[in-house]
Amino acid sequence: MRIDLHTHSRASDGTDTPAELVRNASAAGLDVVALTDHDSTRGHAEAVAALPAGLTLVTGAELSCRLDGTGVHMLAYLFDPEEPEFLRERKLVRDDRVPRARSMVVKLQELGVPITWDQVARIAGDASLGRPHIATALVELGVVDTVSDAFTADWLADGGRAYAEKHELDPFTAIRLVKQAGGVTVLAHPRAVKRGRVVPESALADLAAAGLDGVEVDHMDHDEPTRAALRDLAGDLGLLTTGSSDYHGSRKFVELGACTTDPEVYGEITRRATGAFPVPGAGGHSA
Ligand code: AMP
Ligand code: ZN
Ligand code: FE
Ligand code: FE
Repeated sequence: MRIDLHTHSRASDGTDTPAELVRNASAAGLDVVALTDHDSTRGHAEAVAALPAGLTLVTGAELSCRLDGTGVHMLAYLFDPEEPEFLRERKLVRDDRVPRARSMVVKLQELGVPITWDQVARIAGDASLGRPHIATALVELGVVDTVSDAFTADWLADGGRAYAEKHELDPFTAIRLVKQAGGVTVLAHPRAVKRGRVVPESALADLAAAGLDGVEVDHMDHDEPTRAALRDLAGDLGLLTTGSSDYHGSRKFVELGACTTDPEVYGEITRRATGAFPVPGAGGHSA
C-alpha cells in the first residue's frame, strides 16, 4: 500500500486540477492520496468525481496557523466540511489571503517590480491565494528563476521585503475545531528549517497534550537526522508519524509518493476520524 497524505491542487497553490491530481496519483502507483489544499476543501468534489478505480481519496486541508510568531501548518483529515464553526474559520483565513496578496503586490511595485494585480489574479484563478502565485508572477517577469527563488529575504520569505502577514489560526484552536468537526490533526513539516523558525520541543508537547494526533516526519524538507529525532520525540509524546510528498504539481520539484505513510498509521487515522470517510475510487469520469 502506497499512501501519500499531503498534496495540493489548483484549489490552492498546486498546478494540477483536482481531477488531474487524482489521475496523476493513480498513475504514480498510489493506493491512497489526501488532498490537503491550504485552508480550502473546494477541490474535493472534483477529485471525488474523477477518482480512478483502485485509488482512495482522503479529504483534508492544510490550515495556516501561527504559534508564538512562527507560521505553522496543521494538516486536518476526514473532518465534516459543513461543521459551521470550522467552516467559518477556514473562510476567514481564506478571505484574508486576498487583501494580504494585494498588499504584497503593492510592496513589490514599490520595490520597482512591474507586477500587477491582474497578473496575480490570472495566475491564481479562484484558488485560495498564496505566495506561490505571486512567486509565479515574479518568474514570469524574470525577477527570479524559480518559485523557490522568490522565497528569500529580498522578496517573499517570512519577514522579507515584500512579505505581508495573513490572518492565521492559533494551532490549539485549530486542533479543537478539527476535533469538533470529527477530524484528525497532523502537524505538517514541523522541522522545515528553510521555511523559517521551527516548532520547539516544548510546543510539540503542549500540542500533543491538547489533542494533536500526529506529526509529519517523512517530508522532503526534513533531512535524515531530523527525521530520526522527530520520530523519537513522537514516540515519547504518543504521536502518530506520517510521510508525504507535499506535491504542488510543477510549482515544486517533488513527485507524488516521494514520501509515504505507514499503512498502520493510515488505519489509525481512519479509525479516529468520525467527520468523513475515505472515498474509494469507482473509476471516475474525466473532468
Ligand atoms: P502562504 O500560504 O501564502 O503564506 O504561502 C506559503 C506556501 O508557499 C507554502 O505552503 C509553500 O507551498 C510555499 N513555500 C514556502 N516556502 C517555500 C520555498 N522556500 N520554496 C517554494 N515554495 C515555498
Ligand atoms: Zn502550498
Ligand atoms: Fe505546508
Ligand atoms: Fe503543503
